[in-house]
Amino acid sequence: MTPLDPWIAGTIGAPADAPLAPARLAAWQLARLNETLALAREQSPFYRQRLAAAPDGPDRLDSLDGLGFLPFTTAEDLRDHGLNMLCCSQGEIARVVSLETSGTSGPAKRLFFTADDLERTVDFFHHGLTTFMEPGRRLFVCLPGTTPASVGDLLRQALPRLGGEALVHGLVRDPGETLAALADSRAEALVGLPAQVLALARHPASRLGRGLESVLLCSDYVPRAVREAVAQAWGCRVLAHWGMTETGLGGGVECLARSGYHLRAADLLIEIVDPDTGRTLPAGASGEIVLTTLTRRGLPLIRYRTGDRGQLADGACACGSIVPRLARVSGRIAGEFPLPGGGRLALADLDELLFPLPWLLDFEAGVRRDGPGLILDLTLHATPDTIPGPARGEAAAALSALPPGASAGALRILPGARPTGAAKRGFTTTAREERP
Ligand SMILES: [Zn+2]
Repeated sequence: MTPLDPWIAGTIGAPADAPLAPARLAAWQLARLNETLALAREQSPFYRQRLAAAPDGPDRLDSLDGLGFLPFTTAEDLRDHGLNMLCCSQGEIARVVSLETSGTSGPAKRLFFTADDLERTVDFFHHGLTTFMEPGRRLFVCLPGTTPASVGDLLRQALPRLGGEALVHGLVRDPGETLAALADSRAEALVGLPAQVLALARHPASRLGRGLESVLLCSDYVPRAVREAVAQAWGCRVLAHWGMTETGLGGGVECLARSGYHLRAADLLIEIVDPDTGRTLPAGASGEIVLTTLTRRGLPLIRYRTGDRGQLADGACACGSIVPRLARVSGRIAGEFPLPGGGRLALADLDELLFPLPWLLDFEAGVRRDGPGLILDLTLHATPDTIPGPARGEAAAALSALPPGASAGALRILPGARPTGAAKRGFTTTAREERP
């Protein structure tokens, strides 16, 4: 079972020796949600105004179903109203994170965390990490860690709580150097961004990673094909973690059943809504992930539209846990293109088609309209020893599985160890649409 069950039971004051009861968790979530609404109304001019404008928004909700009547918040709100959304004095803020949004100008969106908010994340890392690593192990961290309260720094605080140590390497700039440092560290576990860990697993010196027992792929979005490639290269356990700055970096982590991310359900409430109508969708339906924080004190988020597509799992997990799961997260909704026969093409679909190619490190995709159809111009970054001729044939074969209405256009294959970037949303893939 996921270690999140006993952790959440402890947080919400439920008995640790009995199965966590869904009704007990829901009661905790409702109580914290009402506290969050009261705090927001009392402390934040932005929320006072936004919540007052809710048509049927009661002051106190008597069930979690009432959440659907509250207004949404967005990334634009964070950009435009930042400090007006704060629910504490600026002196209580321990960390500010500024996020530039690609393709927009103007101020960055900013998120604010108190020391208690950060401690909730360290506590989640401490317990969540036990899903994939034994106590007393060393964790090699390929994530930023120089800034106080950065993700690497929070992991540095969490690991000693399970008798281990976090060796914070930082983002991968040169895969060969990172692999040498990994071998020197004798770490048993590694955490990193999917595209960056793939660059290590497919590097000529990849064997230096064979001492690893487990790998955690950490992003708001992890392609299945990348996970399988990493597991194959190192013969180790590979799990995925979902999170974004808005979730307080930690969001949810897979259990060994690998059927979705078990969520930090005492701290976060996740809804899925129809991206067009905003209507709340049932478990199992695909839509936009909407996030409400339950214990955040600095800048609580109420019905925050993430812009990412996902779905909540329906029913209990094979591991026996009742902790809610995000079953599948598949990237930005804004990066999806409608197909003429219905349906849509997302970068996630391209990831699943292309990353099984054993020589692929990363790719960029440009999308063009051709009448009602889509043409994809692709640049594939390949391992240095890739021979373009045969690789082109393999790529074309993989792309023959594109859905009807989408076809491959220009195809460039660039062998060479390109240092993989660390795009904010996990991947350096970009989609450009040229509308007529
Ligand atoms: Zn599970």
